[in-house]
Amino acid sequence: MAVEHSSLKGKVGLITGSTSGIGLATAHVLAEQGCHLILHGLMPEAEGRRLAAEFAEQYHIHTFFSNADLRDPESIHAFMNAGVKALGSIDILVNNAGIQYTENVAHFPIDKWNDIIAINLSSAFHTIQQAVPAMAEKRWGRIINIASVHGLVASVNKAAYCAAKHGIVGLTKVVAIECAEQGITVNAICPGWVDTPLINKQIEAIASNKGLSYDEAKYQLVTAKQPLPEMLDPRQIGEFVLFLCSNAARGITGASLAMDGAWTAQ
Ligand code: NAD
Repeated sequence: MAVEHSSLKGKVGLITGSTSGIGLATAHVLAEQGCHLILHGLMPEAEGRRLAAEFAEQYHIHTFFSNADLRDPESIHAFMNAGVKALGSIDILVNNAGIQYTENVAHFPIDKWNDIIAINLSSAFHTIQQAVPAMAEKRWGRIINIASVHGLVASVNKAAYCAAKHGIVGLTKVVAIECAEQGITVNAICPGWVDTPLINKQIEAIASNKGLSYDEAKYQLVTAKQPLPEMLDPRQIGEFVLFLCSNAARGITGASLAMDGAWTAQ
């Protein structure tokens, strides 16, 4: 039997960081189902409005755009209030925005630590806190946190990223338990390597340190830890988000779901 998604038509989804990579791909997947979208990401206002207008035209949905900086809780509250005023309360919340910075712990810049914790972890606390009451009132909600394989295991030079991603796995569990009787499911997706701009710097560093081409460095990066010797397509994460929104996934909550090419199976 096919998984039923048609109930997403007319629901309102908010995806942080949906101007690029996994968030943008997820926005397309949800829009295809007729889900209205609050799009968000660091992009000039005019460009973001254009993106929102393109989504509205292509998918016949209502859209809203914000480029609120997630490091600032007040901006998060203001952007969510504006989004809800424009489209109605949020049914599907995808906490996706994130950044990366790699350095060993002794030299890790404090400002990068603070930014990664604020964007990759604390912003999800703020969006969840604001979205949950209306979901509970409607007795339906889906919260999906895009964590990482680094929410389950560690790698060198990623102190802040691993701390934030392990944190979001913990937050996912707590909110899932708290919301279990309110029709809200809360899950974390833990991807391995996904082909997005987030990892460009890591590939470029390997290429320059080892004198490799970009593609050779990319292959080395992937296969160093991930048995599946290829990067995931961002759309595959979007399709997983869609599944978690379906009725078939009603019983999945509080889970940290690896999508990591057997990285954590080792
Ligand atoms: P990306 O760089 O393509 O997109 C990141 C998004 O976050 C962009 O829309 C950007 O504007 C937004 N963003 C960054 N800083 C922000 C800020 N201060 N305020 C508001 N928005 C901000 O990255 P991606 O690979 O699509 O990453 C999406 C999520 O997936 C992240 O949480 C990342 O940690 C996670 N992830 C990525 C991979 C991977 O290999 N690419 C693997 C596992 C998990």
